[in-house]
Amino acid sequence: MPKELPTQAQVVVIGGGAVGASVAYHLTKVGISDVVLLERKTLTSGTTWHAAGLVGQLRASHNLTRLAQYTTQLFEQLEAETGQATGFKQNGSISVAPDKERFEELKRGASMARRFGLEVQVITAGEAKSMYPLLNVEDLVGAVYLPKDGQINPTDVTQAMVKGARMGGAKIFENTKVTAIHQSGGAVTGVDTDNGAIKAEFVVNCAGMWGREVGQMAGVNIPLHACEHFYIVTEPMAQVPPDLPVLRDPSGFLYVKEDAGKLLVGAFEPGAKPWGMDGIPDDHEFETLPEDWDHFEPVMRNALQRVPLLEQAGISLFFCGPESFTPDTRYSLGECPELERFFVAAGFNSIGIQSSGGAGKAIAEWIHKGHAPMDLWDVDPRRWMPFQGNSVYLRDRVTESLGNLYAMHWPFLQPVTSRNVRRSILHDKLAEQGACFGEMAGWERPNWFAPPGVKPEYEYSYARQNWFEYSGEEHRACRENVVLFDQSSFTKYLFKGRDVEQILNRVCANNVSVPVGKVVYTQWLNERGGIEADLTVTRTAEDTYLIVTSGSQQIRDYSWLKSHIPPDSHAFLTDITSGYAMLGLMGPNARTLMSQITPADLSNTAFPFATSQEIELGYAMVRASRITYVGELGWEIYMPTEFMPGIYETIMEAGAQLGLKLGGYHAVNSLRMEKAFKHWGHDIAEEDTPLEAGLGFAVAFDKNEDFIGREALLRQKDQGLKKRMVQFVLDDPEPLMYHEEPIYRDGIMVGSTTSAQFGHTLGASVGLGFVENEQGVSADWINEGKYEIEIACERYPARASLRPMYDPYAKRPKA
Ligand SMILES: Cc1cc2nc3c(=O)[nH]c(=O)nc-3n(C[C@H](O)[C@H](O)[C@H](O)COP(=O)(O)OP(=O)(O)OC[C@H]3O[C@@H](n4cnc5c(N)ncnc54)[C@H](O)[C@@H]3O)c2cc1C
Repeated sequence: MPKELPTQAQVVVIGGGAVGASVAYHLTKVGISDVVLLERKTLTSGTTWHAAGLVGQLRASHNLTRLAQYTTQLFEQLEAETGQATGFKQNGSISVAPDKERFEELKRGASMARRFGLEVQVITAGEAKSMYPLLNVEDLVGAVYLPKDGQINPTDVTQAMVKGARMGGAKIFENTKVTAIHQSGGAVTGVDTDNGAIKAEFVVNCAGMWGREVGQMAGVNIPLHACEHFYIVTEPMAQVPPDLPVLRDPSGFLYVKEDAGKLLVGAFEPGAKPWGMDGIPDDHEFETLPEDWDHFEPVMRNALQRVPLLEQAGISLFFCGPESFTPDTRYSLGECPELERFFVAAGFNSIGIQSSGGAGKAIAEWIHKGHAPMDLWDVDPRRWMPFQGNSVYLRDRVTESLGNLYAMHWPFLQPVTSRNVRRSILHDKLAEQGACFGEMAGWERPNWFAPPGVKPEYEYSYARQNWFEYSGEEHRACRENVVLFDQSSFTKYLFKGRDVEQILNRVCANNVSVPVGKVVYTQWLNERGGIEADLTVTRTAEDTYLIVTSGSQQIRDYSWLKSHIPPDSHAFLTDITSGYAMLGLMGPNARTLMSQITPADLSNTAFPFATSQEIELGYAMVRASRITYVGELGWEIYMPTEFMPGIYETIMEAGAQLGLKLGGYHAVNSLRMEKAFKHWGHDIAEEDTPLEAGLGFAVAFDKNEDFIGREALLRQKDQGLKKRMVQFVLDDPEPLMYHEEPIYRDGIMVGSTTSAQFGHTLGASVGLGFVENEQGVSADWINEGKYEIEIACERYPARASLRPMYDPYAKRPKA
């Protein structure tokens, strides 16, 4: 180990656990050898040393699965490369289902796994028993087997990655604590340690459960909080063969792993115990926490029922150690929006070993290439809102995050902890009207409205849930009459100054050199033509634009635009989300209703589609924009927040004779699916271009200014498309798609759905999804195919269309 701490390095990695080791290793693999890894105590002494070492591959999205899959491939060859044994073995894993709902979840997962290229088998309880003789299968309805899942020794694999990193030139320092992060001009410049300072071009925060604290040193928000995490290990037993697969019984909140002739039983129980509320003690190193048998006992009871041999087993170890969890049970990976060249890979929610290989590779490639190597929005630090760094919010939420790993992943599942953080000013009024709220980025948003006498509470299921018909009525009211949606959670920025038109024309693919009052739908692209944002830009004055994007993009889109404002420009970007509320009044009777409460001329001549005006409404002045996300005639009404209750009352009163209904976000989603309106983060993201997504109409190739991504799109136009977004409707009205369902064309898997919802006008489940073909995807190729969608391992015939099947020529919003 080198003694002298260098004063300079290209990359400083903070933290010597599995993740830091992997980042250092992969940096050397992409040719960056000037790497210094700093560990405050001993390598692996944080959380890594006591991990159970399960290495699963299936994650909730394609790219996160790709990263986990890569980890397995790395672990397969690391010993040969470094000479350091890792204890890796691939006995596979079996997940069991004691009821049909869990089996449906596992089968939907298996369909997803197929799409992601993982080997997977849906097996009977009897087959599970033959693969895992210790299993009690009496109550099981089925299981899923992933033959390539494995297990590893976490300390050894970390040491192997450290050895590999050293072989590639990285320098590793133990007993060196980072005490401060330096920055200048919005970018990181180095770190202070208790052994001296190091200047650095890049700093990567891999500090595990200390990640939030290290983030704070840099003024960066990394929401995570530790929880106690438990397992027990038995005495060795002759009946335990070394080739036993890993067993997961999610409904029993447990997993079982063979461990040198013993069984290790671990827990993902509901109601976890947060830990480290007063900070993590400075001397924490290879530390264990006191056992809590009362807490573990319900899981142990389930384990005894599932693996009866455990009744005879002596327990050699009761283990409890801390691990970091995040508000959405997903880790943070990537460059932080608050500070350029400061990266994070932390908050691994108990999958840090199996994620380490992929996470390290992604960070290394990101630093090397200057952009994310793939769409990593699921784990992007730009998804966090500032309030999510609040320690009380975190402490309460992580009690739920740990159990989430094995909880039922019901469609539309809402968290139950740390709620009511961000509320629209109409919240209580909407609650009185029966709103059932869902959470998004801390916002409480009405998802559906319960009629009088019905409790506004979810009853979850994979089939039609209890709100299906109520939401259907909202949907139909929007198609046939008029509906009011509270859309206050939409993000709004004001962009003002002499240079903003020019800046926006470079950032937007569409042309924003438009008359005052024009609403422009546009994408923001990266140099590769990929879609970084999908939003509207409204010119409200010569030198002012109102930018409206979705609530989840508040930090991300702000940081994208800000990073593209050249220094010394006369351009000022302000987030006005909290100051401006928004109501969407949508449906064929929207004009009739609006006309009763505004003197403004709302005719097509005076107020055409895609325009915006300041008008009188009730006693207030509002900005009304004639634009829609539901595909009907309507206006988005923006107003300073304090006017919203009055305007709401005015609209409700005037709407009463017309039969105005309130609508929730489930209806919005169902309406937009029928129109094939895309949703950034679900349907489209930075790896998809507007041409592939069917958004070429919003690209102004002919505008005077060059825009980011233009060259890439022109190249793609020349070369032809290899994937395209298509709308699908199932022939059978019964089955429900949600997302990631495999799509088959003439019996061959060509893609998967990106989002889906029941379409109450089209009368069946409607989905969007990319279809791919190396030889090209012409309209003929798409139209000539026969399609099926796989749901829970069964295929259902579907119709496919490049144009929206509802109102294909967009006549209704322009009526
Ligand atoms: C009981 C249990 C079972 C688990 N089982 C599994 C499993 O089966 N599979 C799986 O994939 N995962 C599992 N995990 C999770 C896994 O252990 C973690 O996700 C993983 O170890 C996280 O690695 P890390 O490198 O992010 O964090 P750590 O290993 O905690 O490393 C972070 C390092 O940063 C150092 N550090 C902090 N602050 C500073 C500073 N200021 N300066 C310098 N260094 C600093 C710390 O000392 C620490 O060593 C389990 C966890 C627990 C608790």
